[in-house]
Amino acid sequence: MPLKPISPRLLTATYIVALLLIAGLSIASHIVLDYGLKSDEGSAAIINQTGRQRMLSQRIASLAAQYRLGDASVLDDLRSTIAAFQNSHDSLALAVRASTFGENTSSRLKALYFDGPDPLDGQIETFVAEARAVADLPPDDPAMPDLLAHLFAQARSPLLNTLNDVVTVHQRESERRVDRLESLQWAILGTILAALALEAIMIFRPMIHRVVAYTSELFRLANIDSLTGAANRRSFMERCEREAVRARRYDRPVSILMLDVDKFKLINDGYGHAAGDEVLKAVGKILRETVRDSDIWGRLGGEEFAVLLVETPLSAAGNLAERMRERFGREVVRFQNETIQFTVSIGVASVPPKEGAVEAALRVADHLMYQAKAAGRNRVVVDAAQPA
Ligand code: GH3
Ligand code: MG
Ligand code: MG
Repeated sequence: MPLKPISPRLLTATYIVALLLIAGLSIASHIVLDYGLKSDEGSAAIINQTGRQRMLSQRIASLAAQYRLGDASVLDDLRSTIAAFQNSHDSLALAVRASTFGENTSSRLKALYFDGPDPLDGQIETFVAEARAVADLPPDDPAMPDLLAHLFAQARSPLLNTLNDVVTVHQRESERRVDRLESLQWAILGTILAALALEAIMIFRPMIHRVVAYTSELFRLANIDSLTGAANRRSFMERCEREAVRARRYDRPVSILMLDVDKFKLINDGYGHAAGDEVLKAVGKILRETVRDSDIWGRLGGEEFAVLLVETPLSAAGNLAERMRERFGREVVRFQNETIQFTVSIGVASVPPKEGAVEAALRVADHLMYQAKAAGRNRVVVDAAQPA
């Protein structure tokens, strides 16, 4: 089946689609991972801020104690720490109200902050109010001991515990997000690999098959004579030279024979050029059947063929040529309603083990083939100058 030329546009479009698909998936994977990392950064910041609140609550208690013992210099520090604590709480409570976390996390946080018997929001409100009251009273005020005792009790357990719970909830949310991200990452990797496999099967494999088919077709066109299936002259000579080098290295005998159809012009003139072509095809068929796979045969032009017989001394080559000649004589070519028979003349020479010997031996065989023609055609002439 002849190969259709491939369209460069189609080829380019196919490659671009394949590349875009992979690029798209890679970008999607990047965006998802980036989003995941950013969310996790947010979580880390909130965990950090809540942790800082724990620290601020303890600091407020400690500064209040110092103040009560008469150290008035801590008052400014106490007030600013209370303000920082309040601000930090306000921003976190705002985020919890806005439900910016996962659904599950948001409801758990809301419960901790605003619902239940002792919500964090209320605890902090009381704690801040009491801390402010401490800061507003003189250290030796009679209300001070009770106020301070309550403040310490608040700071020690409920506040600290609830803040711990908040951190735990955020940590769980972060772990869940990392797990989800991990699954997503595997899913994306799987999709990319599946897309690559699909592209390999649907795009690149057929493409490679086509390229291989084109290459072998080009090779065939460049080396094989399409009418007879014989090697063309250039390819025949190249292969013969390689074989001759090998034979020389291993000291193996090589012979060559030159074959020409007798009175071929008469066939062309008598039955037409197409009939002549059928005869040439028959020559190709017979050569393919009679020579060994290791032998090299080619069409040197018109109705002239040559065969390089490897591992074959001259005498054996002469016998083979004789059998070939008989075989050609028996061939009947049918063309339209005609039957055509033909004969061949063959010259046989050996290829001596030296450089450039193939060309020289071919000339000798050609010369001997013309001797066969001169002697009446339909015969084989073996080189008498060479010891057979
Ligand atoms: P001889 O016995 O001396 O070889 O006589 P011949 O007629 O065979 O010799 P010649 O070389 O004069 O004729 C060869 C003819 O082969 C001439 C050419 O038109 C014909 N020919 C060459 N190539 C082709 C081909 O591919 N197809 C056909 N049908 N004829 C071809
Ligand atoms: Mg001829
Ligand atoms: Mg000829």
